[in-house]
Amino acid sequence: MANVRLEGIKRRFNKVTAIEDISFEVPDGQFWVLVGPSGCGKSTVLRTIAGLETATAGKLYIGDILVNHIPARQRDVAMVFQNYALYPHMTVAENIGFGLQMRKVDPKTIKNRVETVARSLSVDHLLDRKPGQLSGGQQQRVALGRAIARQPQVFLLDEPLSNLDAQLRDDTRVELKQLHHQLGITTIYVTHDQVEAMTLADQIVVMNAGRIQQIGAPQSIYTKPANRMVATFLGSPPMNIIPVTYTNIGFAVGDQYLPCFPVVKDKLHPVEGQGFDLGIRSEHIGIVGQADHLIVKVKVIEPLGRETLIRADLPSLGVQLNFQANSDLHLSLGDRVFLHLDLEQLFVFDSITGNKLYP
Ligand code: ATP
Repeated sequence: MANVRLEGIKRRFNKVTAIEDISFEVPDGQFWVLVGPSGCGKSTVLRTIAGLETATAGKLYIGDILVNHIPARQRDVAMVFQNYALYPHMTVAENIGFGLQMRKVDPKTIKNRVETVARSLSVDHLLDRKPGQLSGGQQQRVALGRAIARQPQVFLLDEPLSNLDAQLRDDTRVELKQLHHQLGITTIYVTHDQVEAMTLADQIVVMNAGRIQQIGAPQSIYTKPANRMVATFLGSPPMNIIPVTYTNIGFAVGDQYLPCFPVVKDKLHPVEGQGFDLGIRSEHIGIVGQADHLIVKVKVIEPLGRETLIRADLPSLGVQLNFQANSDLHLSLGDRVFLHLDLEQLFVFDSITGNKLYP
């Protein structure tokens, strides 16, 4: 097992800079998740660690050894892709044992290792089948098994669950987490699915446009997002963003007003007419009975069982706010409701750069 350290990694493809100045260190045995929208460079980072891409600049260490010029097959990493690419003519057992066979491990050890790995992934009853006789979920487990059986220093997983249906994806995600607890192999996992990122990661690396936006534990990224991009990418529903204009009465939200906290004022020194983006999570918004709060118009009602998710429009702004309500509250589409925003939980972002200004 090993730690993985990236120092200022950059990768250009002709004129396209796919990733720029990527630096982080995954300590030995941890599970890190790279997350971000499509095209942000996640796969390029992973492929560079695997040795399938060469960094244009920067240094990459695996287990404190500089590996920039060490070929992929000598890096002792195992990568699992979204299209698991099993060998179709081999049985499940042969697929799982393939890496060991290539290394001339003795047949008895291979057999034992294959059976142990297959059992841990619940594919031990399928060892004699060919990949064509397996479901997508089973094929994916076999692909994971093939990587695990090699007992690499580092696991690199690129959207390994994205071909599975929702239920199987949930189950396999839980199994992956248990497996990581058992094996303790340093793992770097790429996904655009924020639920996978939140549930699997020791630490999350949020990327956008080829750069790291924030690194942190899931809960800390959720409660203390570094900027608007992170705030609106992680969390379901994402953080609400309300464009406002500062006036001497407070923040103008269309033709309504929200008070501006003295601390916010002291910190930001806003000037009349200045624009900001306010951010607030859905759980910090509640429906209240009386006026003197934000008025919104209910657009969508999504019962979730324990509570109901409401999507409502801020009139005159065309901005939608998401918030939860008690499931016994009876609302209809088009209803106007008054909202209380917990201003202690408010974020203020620069409306142009998205940088966090407060808190
Ligand atoms: P996705 O989630 O859609 O897989 P990603 O975050 O993994 O996206 P990458 O595949 O790393 O993103 O791509 C990052 C950027 O680099 C994209 O703009 C992509 O078009 C570009 N890119 C990746 N590989 C190449 C290549 N071989 N040649 C040219 N550009 C590339």
